Amino acid sequence: MAPRHEADTVVNPSTNSVECRRCGAVLPFILPMPVSIWVAMVKAFNKIHELCEEKRDEKEHTEHE
Ligand SMILES: [Zn+2]
Repeated sequence: MAPRHEADTVVNPSTNSVECRRCGAVLPFILPMPVSIWVAMVKAFNKIHELCEEKRDEKEHTEHE
């Protein structure tokens, strides 16, 4: 297996964006867009996010107990 992990990206149709659930990056897109370009864009985004690092949720870090 390759050392890199799988991209954890999702398409959010309500905001017209692709989101990385691991690091929280968002890639907005404007429709209409040629499908071939959209696919290439999502593939590129996925490729980047195969290597991204999980974002530390600093909001959750506050001690509230
Ligand atoms: Zn990411």
